[in-house]
Amino acid sequence: MAYASEMSDLLQLTEEALRDPSLSDDPGTYVYLLAALLGFEDVEVWGEQLDGLNDDEYEVPCPACSAENFIAFGEYGFFSTTDSMYMNETAAKKIPLQPADSSALEGLAQRLHSRALADNQPDVAGKLTYLFGRAQCAECDAVFSVADAVATHWDG
Ligand SMILES: [Zn+2]
Repeated sequence: MAYASEMSDLLQLTEEALRDPSLSDDPGTYVYLLAALLGFEDVEVWGEQLDGLNDDEYEVPCPACSAENFIAFGEYGFFSTTDSMYMNETAAKKIPLQPADSSALEGLAQRLHSRALADNQPDVAGKLTYLFGRAQCAECDAVFSVADAVATHWDG
């Protein structure tokens, strides 16, 4: 099957690209390649959504009350808020995120986190603990899994 062998070539090329030491200065490209790898592996949701790490935020509806929450994990801090202008100092309520304990990660989360560390991408590994951690809804105070909220939102 030509198609299968082409896919396996692509996988191999992407694997090699991910190990390129020059990417240690370029976490954005690293995340893009990692997302591509998941896409080639047909990993549900994350092949398309992992590159949200590069935006330093995910926007997800609260599973309890459906309010849109911005999950921010970049230069403005690590918090959830319903205020889309959260980069302003005057922004409304911000609730600190609850990152996952990296030693407690399982499955895909564990695989991505340990791979990012092994590939010398500590910033990416750090962001993954927020993506696979928990957030508190800024509207109703429900605590939910960020990754599950992303997956539920995009798997429809
Ligand atoms: Zn809520």
